[in-house]
Amino acid sequence: MDVSHLIDALNTEQRDAVTAEPGPLLIQAGAGSGKTRVLTHRIAWLNQVEGVSPFGILAVTFTNKAAGEMRARVEELLGTAIGPMWIGTFHGLSHRFLRIHWKEAKLPQTFQILDSEDQRRMVQRAIRGLDLDEKKWPPRNAMWYINEKKDEGLRPQHIRDDGDPTEQQMIRIYTAYQTACDLAGAVDFAELLLRALETLRDNDELLEHYQKRFRHLLVDEFQDTNTIQYAWLRLIAGDTGNLFAVGDDDQSIYGWRGAKVENILNFNQHFPGTRVIRLERNYRSTGNILNAANALIENNTDRLGKNLWTDIGEGDPITFYSAYNEGDEARFVVERIMEHINTGGRRSDAAILYRSNAQSRVLEEAFFRAGIRYRVYGGLRFFERMEIKDALAYLRLISLSDDDVSFERAINQPPRGIGDKTLSSIRNAAREANVSLWHACAEILTANALKGRASTAVSGFMTLIMNMRKETSELSLDKTVEYVIEHSGLLDHYKKDRTEKGEARVENLLELVGAAGAPIDVPEDMPEMSQLDAFLSNAALEAGDNQADEGEDCVQLMTMHSAKGLEFPLVFITGMEQGLFPSKRSVEESGKIEEERRLCYVGITRAEQRLFLTMAEHRRLYGRDHFSTPSRFISEIPSDFIMEIRPRLNVSRPMVQTPQRKAIREDNTTGLSIGQRVMHGKFGEGTVTDYEGQGAHARVYVNFETVGSKWLVLAYAKLEALNTA
Ligand code: ATP
Ligand code: MG
Repeated sequence: MDVSHLIDALNTEQRDAVTAEPGPLLIQAGAGSGKTRVLTHRIAWLNQVEGVSPFGILAVTFTNKAAGEMRARVEELLGTAIGPMWIGTFHGLSHRFLRIHWKEAKLPQTFQILDSEDQRRMVQRAIRGLDLDEKKWPPRNAMWYINEKKDEGLRPQHIRDDGDPTEQQMIRIYTAYQTACDLAGAVDFAELLLRALETLRDNDELLEHYQKRFRHLLVDEFQDTNTIQYAWLRLIAGDTGNLFAVGDDDQSIYGWRGAKVENILNFNQHFPGTRVIRLERNYRSTGNILNAANALIENNTDRLGKNLWTDIGEGDPITFYSAYNEGDEARFVVERIMEHINTGGRRSDAAILYRSNAQSRVLEEAFFRAGIRYRVYGGLRFFERMEIKDALAYLRLISLSDDDVSFERAINQPPRGIGDKTLSSIRNAAREANVSLWHACAEILTANALKGRASTAVSGFMTLIMNMRKETSELSLDKTVEYVIEHSGLLDHYKKDRTEKGEARVENLLELVGAAGAPIDVPEDMPEMSQLDAFLSNAALEAGDNQADEGEDCVQLMTMHSAKGLEFPLVFITGMEQGLFPSKRSVEESGKIEEERRLCYVGITRAEQRLFLTMAEHRRLYGRDHFSTPSRFISEIPSDFIMEIRPRLNVSRPMVQTPQRKAIREDNTTGLSIGQRVMHGKFGEGTVTDYEGQGAHARVYVNFETVGSKWLVLAYAKLEALNTA
């Protein structure tokens, strides 16, 4: 068999990795060096040359988008579909495992997945059930606590409270929440992984089966695995240790969610005899972009260190634009993209990246006005919209009436006169009898424990759901959805709202019928799953990725976190402001700045040919005004690689440091010259690199040794000029 196409377009180190003998292997290499490429080629190699069945391969990565791309790349290399191969995200694969082994996992067959909003509500109920003050015990905090413990593999009984009352209370909430979840057959995202791990660990036969089956494990973005994910991999890899891991410590950006870079550092201890391969050639970016990224990341002390080079050529310098405000920033971006399109470029060549999701709104507006098609990854996605979640709640109740989360959502949406009092008596009854809300309702009604109107309303709701189940049992999935949005009253309810928002909601509901009409992927190894359940599970997982207009030529907007692993000819990183990026929190908390810098490194290294960095001196965000100075990351990029464009001639930035700028300019009333060493009470020593304004408004820009560059108003700053020898 001719397999040259599997190794021809690889360099020596890449080829070594693709064709390596079985055994633990770690590729530790920088951005754009071909890690993902090697991983996909390895899969094809195992299959075509080593004769490994697609059943025997498990490959995992971090986002649905990346998993989809990985699957497509492998299929292209093999020239055939790879149906049964387990390629997916940790969550997706754990979910698949639990659907097959629901019995061993002690779950109902139709268990439902809670997304973060469902989970928050469920935690809130647990807190109320314990008679705790929600102000003192905010559900969101408790939710983070629970997820963090689950990511560490900890159940309530494993947590040591050390007599700490806060910890004790959190453990009680965790316990109550988990009891409620188990009762409702509900599984949150973190639970997917933990439950899969426990099921495998505590069941010798299953474990043996999967260890035998998956002789080859491959994991991309290994630097971002957390404790539970790594434990899962180690468990399946067992003694053979055929784990093929690729990662880059400089791109570890999920420390805040429990990812452990140590997994890279300790790999060798867990898998003795690990072969380590380094890739040093970058095939993605121009010299200027790569050098800027290398220089930036040099500022981190906590890293393994590596060299990356490219022979693509210098390319254009990176452009830095300091806008007046966010509108001006968006205009700049739109104009550059217009130029690109007008010279024959595609929209999809361009990616706009930002630190915070909230930044997308202004950019979206600008694209909309300019008539440029765009798409936002992340943010509020289709399956996360209110009206869609309402409809899904009905569908879930049809599938499993004990689903408390859906019960809570559907019972009074659209409003049918069921008040808080009635609801809380249902909740109390459910808690006391330790049954689901649905069950409790039935009992309350039988016991005639509800008064006239409330009783009619509740029994009406139950009849409605039971009728829906009966009427839809023979219908196709899309007809089922259609039936449900009409008979639940949701469609009419939203039609009454004549605002644009209301109209959009109606459209979305109709779109859900459309979505249900598309072919649904029921995994081959769980044929017993109903179409409806497959659809509902997909909906919960898909909420993480909106694939609505996939394939359309459009500009892509996303956070830097979601850009990991991707590449684009044209990249804009917006909001390069101190306090936004790096974020305020990371500046204040020690140790956080390095992760933020890695995020910037990820952002920069997405760019192939052109990179634009932009900031707004004045930004309205989260309803507040911010006046900002350039991100310290800007000043960490050597001026050789970057060119600044300014909207105002009289405002200057310290980017292009030509010798004559060291002289005192005529308009300088600050008494300080550029290059002057100064001392500040709080920030320590620094160098003046710029100034602007007059009299009481005079400001100087000082590059401090410890805290980076800052604008200071002279009238307040109490700067002491130091004599330089
Ligand atoms: P990241 O760290 O950002 O995930 P990566 O190391 O996974 O990057 P890839 O995405 O695999 O890098 O590769 C970067 C680009 O370089 C891709 O377009 C890939 O096709 C190309 N590339 C990698 N190796 C080679 C090679 N040997 N010859 C030609 N192109 C290559
Ligand atoms: Mg990659």
